[in-house]
Amino acid sequence: MAARRRTAARVAVVAVVALSIAALGRITIDTLGDRATGPAPSFKAQLCALPEDWLELTQRGYYEGRSGHISLLPRTPMYMTTGGKGWTHSGPWDYLQKVPLVFYGPGVVPEGAEVGRRVSLADVAPTIASWMDHELPDVAGRVLPGLGRVGRVPAVVVTVVWDGGGWNALEHWPDSWPNLAALMAEGTSYTGAIVGSSPSVTPAVHTTLGTGHFPETHGVTDVPVRNERGIVTDAFLNGRSARFMEVEALAESWDMARGNRALVGEIGYEPWHLGMIGKGTETPGGDRDHAAWLIRSENRWTTRPEHYRLPTVFRDQSDLQPRLDELDVADGDGDDRWMGVPLDDPARIEENPAFVAHHGAKLRELISTEGYGTDGITDLLFTNFKQIDRVAHYFNMAAPQVREVMAATDAELGALVEHLDDEVGRGRYVVIVTADHGMQPDDEAIDSYAIDPNETERDITARFGPIVRAVWPTQVFLLDDELDARGVSVEEVAAFLGDYRLRDNATRVDQELLGSGPYAPNTRVFELAVPARMLESVTC
Ligand SMILES: [Zn+2]
Repeated sequence: MAARRRTAARVAVVAVVALSIAALGRITIDTLGDRATGPAPSFKAQLCALPEDWLELTQRGYYEGRSGHISLLPRTPMYMTTGGKGWTHSGPWDYLQKVPLVFYGPGVVPEGAEVGRRVSLADVAPTIASWMDHELPDVAGRVLPGLGRVGRVPAVVVTVVWDGGGWNALEHWPDSWPNLAALMAEGTSYTGAIVGSSPSVTPAVHTTLGTGHFPETHGVTDVPVRNERGIVTDAFLNGRSARFMEVEALAESWDMARGNRALVGEIGYEPWHLGMIGKGTETPGGDRDHAAWLIRSENRWTTRPEHYRLPTVFRDQSDLQPRLDELDVADGDGDDRWMGVPLDDPARIEENPAFVAHHGAKLRELISTEGYGTDGITDLLFTNFKQIDRVAHYFNMAAPQVREVMAATDAELGALVEHLDDEVGRGRYVVIVTADHGMQPDDEAIDSYAIDPNETERDITARFGPIVRAVWPTQVFLLDDELDARGVSVEEVAAFLGDYRLRDNATRVDQELLGSGPYAPNTRVFELAVPARMLESVTC
């Protein structure tokens, strides 16, 4: 009875509002229709008023003790900015959730197929496992429909993730990915694929992809997580440990089942992609698989040698400088800048097409020198091209720099497939291409309001004292000691945020007085602000 009433109410209030970006086509964002200027509903009413899939995706993203104290959802299309007023990309909404998912392996998997069914990235690991007759017990994901093997077991499966390359970014730059479009047409493409959980962020989603579980089980919930003592830290401890992974990745489970004779590798930009391969020797019985990520301040490839092996090809980066020089001259001036990005600052040289080409070349070299795909045991190689995300964080997804790095990323996809054709041979490999989330359009482009997390934190502090550890796009981490010392409960802080208004957050006088976009100054900016532990217990 209650459930039926809820569904009817949802159908009534959910509306898809089309928001236009001037001169750049249209962008649609799901939003609830109400203007939300009245008093905040109860926690349970907030949870149960969410469309069912938003609630489910948020629940899948929660892990007790690891997640933050308060679960938040901005009143979409509002969104939380980064501390520096940049753009974030975390939430259960389609524009962030919908990602490409393509399997290309002529002679191994079906060709020229398109599947529209809603599937998620948790389905990838069990699907790969099924080709190899390998059991992944109790995973949340399911073998993808229509993706049974048509040929022999692949000698190598290469999974390529375009960080931030969700459908909204692709659709914004439709001419920048001809190679991906060709693989979609020639392989099997899942046009209804979603990430599958919220927060939709790099560490969480890559771990879903690698394990077949959602964060509610695999434990890697966000960029920051709470450790065993409740202290907020990095999800992969900046590369020191992958111990917050509570389950094995397919790659390590498969490798161990084959006496660690499979080649397993992960080439990424930061340790946040390690969830694709697992913990190396940190897992009892595991071996030192290939793993490489960047020391970002120097742009030097590195690894954690206690747990993984740095492939030898990453010891030589001498091809990078000539690529940067060429890029510098290519835009006509040789001014050590590419579209405004410095090319002589080691902390920023990975944001451009030259670095993408360097990454692609190293990946191909790795396949050849280490012998991926040469024997009868399936090798599993994973890589993350980060630049679409990184540049969209800096400049917004509508900036031409995003178009350029997307085209460069796509060119490397084309080169990878050619290389596999030459080195491994058709009928012996599968390439999987996907993304970990879409990107956030700018508030002005979608006539909305961008919530400032710093101001939110200041306002919580003004009301309760210094109890905040960090305000993230969809969750707030509090300081347990300070809550105790002040006698403040998580419920009180969540209720404060539920009643938090645009005028409270606005730092511009005009917005404080007039509101922003369609939103009046007294609009409550959070659709959901509840104690996170309620995500486990609520029944609607
Ligand atoms: Zn990002």
